[in-house]
Amino acid sequence: MKVVETIDDVRAALEHARGANAASIGLVPTMGAFHDGHRSLFRAARAENDAVVASLFVNPTQFGAAEDFAAYPRDGRNDHAIAEEDSVDLLFAPSADEMYPPGFQTWVDVEELSRPLEGAHRPGHFRGVATVCLKLFNIVRPDRAYFGQKDAQQAAVVKRLIRDLDLELELRVLPTVRDADGLALSSRNAHLSPAERERALALPRALATKDPTRARELLGDLDVDYIEIADLEPRVIAAAVRIGSTRLIDNVPLDEEDLE
Ligand code: AMP
Repeated sequence: MKVVETIDDVRAALEHARGANAASIGLVPTMGAFHDGHRSLFRAARAENDAVVASLFVNPTQFGAAEDFAAYPRDGRNDHAIAEEDSVDLLFAPSADEMYPPGFQTWVDVEELSRPLEGAHRPGHFRGVATVCLKLFNIVRPDRAYFGQKDAQQAAVVKRLIRDLDLELELRVLPTVRDADGLALSSRNAHLSPAERERALALPRALATKDPTRARELLGDLDVDYIEIADLEPRVIAAAVRIGSTRLIDNVPLDEEDLE
């Protein structure tokens, strides 16, 4: 596996693959602190493409001023080992300055889809997500990009971005990977104390009812940002809760059993 930090180095590394052999390229955008959710994306990309690129970038522009950008879990060395084990070919780990040099001022806004749910509680979040994804798509020029159903609204925003801006890539959305007890894997789970993790189990249990009223009851005294049916593709019951200083999101598809 090759690890690069600059856009020029990504382009140089991929030039050969793309040019001479017309190899297909799969991209897995991530913020690192890898777990089995990320790994399922790496493996799908490995199975479906000649070359696999993963990006590791905690994107500052998708975090609000009061959010956990500084405290977001970072574990670069372990991430390199996991990516290597999953046969990622190229790991792109840029600095914030590489992605947002001085004078940066161009933003992508997927307007309507970005408004409810996460967008309502994290103003500007999806503008940051859409912008960094378009940049990564332009830098890597993948044939396929891999995202998790865990972030259902994000997948919907990226799908719309691809359609609206006529990007030539296929979006692949993979099912949510959960721990044996039902908790969706998330880099932020690392912040939960054992007692908080126990309380967090109310989230998957509530969503499993697929009924917002009953779900809210099951969430009991948790601090709920929202729990509602979201008219995405597929339709989901989606929720965000705060447990101590950790904010967790999760969702369960309503129509397609196989995406759970
Ligand atoms: P992140 O590093 O949290 O930004 O996630 C990178 C990608 O992995 C996103 O497309 C997420 O939706 C996906 N992902 C995160 N957690 C999971 C999970 N538990 N199951 C499947 N995909 C996930």
